[in-house]
Amino acid sequence: MLLKNRLSHWLLAAAIVTATPALAQKQTAPSDSAVIKQFYDNALTSTKSYEDLRYLTKNIGARLSGSPQAAAAVEWGKQVMDKMGLDRVYVQEVMVPHWVRGDKEIGRILSGQVGSTDVNIAALGSSVGTGETGLTAEVIEVHNFEELEKLGKKKVKGKIVFFNRAFDNTHVHTMNSYRDAVDQRGGGPVAAAKLGAVAVLVRSMANEIQEVPHTGNTRYQDGVDKIPAAAISTKGAEILSKQLKNDPNLKFYMRMTSENLPEVLSYNVIGEIKGTEKPDEIIVVGGHLDSWDLGEGAHDDGTGVVQSMEVLRLFKELGIKPKRTIRAVLFMNEENGLRGGRKYAEEAKAKGEKHIAAIESDAGGFTPRGFGIDGNDAQYAKTLTWKSLLAPYGLHELTRGGGGADIGPLKGQGTVALIGFKPDSQRYFDYHHTDIDTFETVNRREMQLGAASMASLVYLISQYGL
Ligand SMILES: [Zn+2]
Repeated sequence: MLLKNRLSHWLLAAAIVTATPALAQKQTAPSDSAVIKQFYDNALTSTKSYEDLRYLTKNIGARLSGSPQAAAAVEWGKQVMDKMGLDRVYVQEVMVPHWVRGDKEIGRILSGQVGSTDVNIAALGSSVGTGETGLTAEVIEVHNFEELEKLGKKKVKGKIVFFNRAFDNTHVHTMNSYRDAVDQRGGGPVAAAKLGAVAVLVRSMANEIQEVPHTGNTRYQDGVDKIPAAAISTKGAEILSKQLKNDPNLKFYMRMTSENLPEVLSYNVIGEIKGTEKPDEIIVVGGHLDSWDLGEGAHDDGTGVVQSMEVLRLFKELGIKPKRTIRAVLFMNEENGLRGGRKYAEEAKAKGEKHIAAIESDAGGFTPRGFGIDGNDAQYAKTLTWKSLLAPYGLHELTRGGGGADIGPLKGQGTVALIGFKPDSQRYFDYHHTDIDTFETVNRREMQLGAASMASLVYLISQYGL
């Protein structure tokens, strides 16, 4: 019985070796699909990254550049990675803007016909305040810069310019709706001030009609008056637009006490696993540590931060040694300056580092759909050869073009491919830059799937280059 068993085992083993030599070989090193399965199995059954996100959002909270919370987030990020047993954890000094919102803003429509109506507004990042007493002026509604130009100084001077171009909801990818509307927020104050406007209201960047205003950064220009600028909720924008149709001479009262303070020293936080075969070839995976001061910065970009660190944890925990070097970078100041991203690229250049790929997660912690690849034809073609390994996990969209704000400054350093992690985009602009971007809105499994997706792509690039 025993002998017969042994014999049949031997025969079976011999049969496998002769019939499928490839399979026998793979028993020494796990196949790519087996490694990817390990990433997903571990990510989906570990609560580490979710608990990290809870700490970052609930215990530290909103963390705008220059704030004490941003400083706490730097300490925390470093401590989390210090405990992971990585080859190296370090910080990179960077000077950042320090803007503060001040009191909760007041926005009020003053109509001779229907009385006063309060609407929700939020100062745009970098905006000057209105002064303690606030300001009152007539409102002129426009939808784009051409319309504003045509009105000219005569019709704009002394007024509040109200930019009310809505999101185009026919875009399937909401990032495209954002792209087509966000110029109002960034460029509104300069264009309006050139024509003598006293302030700017910008319709919030959102797909839905909501009470909550969406902040975001705006810009000034040397030699042009700096006028206060606020986001008005989409609901408020609808109300204001409707009232203006019946009562074009209505007035708007706004009060905000935001201001720009002196710059502050802050840091990017970086963790690294050295490559075993080509340590000089670097793959970055990152998100941004700062967030707007409203809400908790959960989807923007707490999830990107914990997912990036989770990629390193998965390699360590599973004992997978990458052939090339992997770095998780927690960038500082993406929201109102991009100083961290610029600093990282500057130092990489100065040290002559060779980055072959950089992946950014900054589009929310939602169900993964794929990656957007900004690279040359050969790099894109190579990622397509991995399609069959990624598709079983719902990663069907491997599209051209992508990247992310923080990794953008690396562009042009050698042949680095810039890759944007693409989660489902339908709910992102419900929360983006608002006080409802909180921990509770993040689904644990969706976020974990994102981390495993990033780890899988990082692994393939670390094995085969790009
Ligand atoms: Zn972001």
